[in-house]
Amino acid sequence: MTALDIPTIELNDGAKIPQLGLGVYLVEPGDTERVVSEALEAGYRHIDTAMIYENEREVGKAIAASGIPRDELFVTTKLWNTDQTRAPEAFAESLDKLGLERVDLYLIHWPQAMFGEALGAWRELIKIRESGRATSIGVSNFEIEDLQQIIDETGVVPAANQIELHPLHQRRELTGFCREQGIAIEAWGPLAQGKSDLLTRPEVIAAAEAHGKSPAQVLLRWHVQQGRIIFPKTTKRERLAENADIFDFALTDVEMAAIDAYEVGTNLGPDPRTFDVR
Ligand code: NAD
Repeated sequence: MTALDIPTIELNDGAKIPQLGLGVYLVEPGDTERVVSEALEAGYRHIDTAMIYENEREVGKAIAASGIPRDELFVTTKLWNTDQTRAPEAFAESLDKLGLERVDLYLIHWPQAMFGEALGAWRELIKIRESGRATSIGVSNFEIEDLQQIIDETGVVPAANQIELHPLHQRRELTGFCREQGIAIEAWGPLAQGKSDLLTRPEVIAAAEAHGKSPAQVLLRWHVQQGRIIFPKTTKRERLAENADIFDFALTDVEMAAIDAYEVGTNLGPDPRTFDVR
């Protein structure tokens, strides 16, 4: 199976992450092995899952069946909220389900600042990284104050922060802070989860027509052109190919600025400052 030629981003610990992958949030366990297998066949080498997606086992089956050498794959999973006080055990369970001895990136899924347990979890992730069973460690949905706390207390800067980010919600202050700290941005919901009118906006359609691309490709290109890591979710084979075919054109400054101007500051997912679901 031939890998797609996807650019990599160097993380602050020296590891390299493919800038584009497949996210499997809300991919049914019964469908996950097929979707991940099709993605690997299409040349994807980066898969983003999480314990709470309940499909780590199926991701692992597709990886095993592919026969692709482990070093050619980049696998991310995440520590769920209820597991922040038992990170070593939860991590071992994730590895077991994935059928892997190591993940490439392990993330704390939500800060849950109201419970005050993320710092302890971060200390455990540092030990997990030192053990070699996670090459890189990072966080997800962390605000500036959440990042500042774990950095101040441990001196270890997360390799990545995976946050909701799309043209309607660009998180400029947070991304600026992450840039200064050397924290890579992973944009979740890069297509606004299919819940917006972005794909039918005139500026997006005009850019798509100008470059012979689809509106979704224009939005995904807008992300990668700003150095972000994305893993748009799809269960359709045609869209797997479409979403990865974004590295042979460039949006102009005017086209980029038109999409930048869509910012309204509203999140589609939960607010990380108040999300207390366990
Ligand atoms: P997304 O923005 O990737 O949107 C997915 C939806 O976009 C699909 O269901 C489909 O309806 C549509 N779509 C996909 N390709 C398309 C195409 N070519 N043309 C038109 N429509 C298309 O949203 P997402 O799945 O929420 O985010 C991507 C990944 O980010 C997830 O699968 C998951 O791995 C991760 N994520 C992380 C968190 C977190 O808290 N860390 C939260 C949500 C998602």
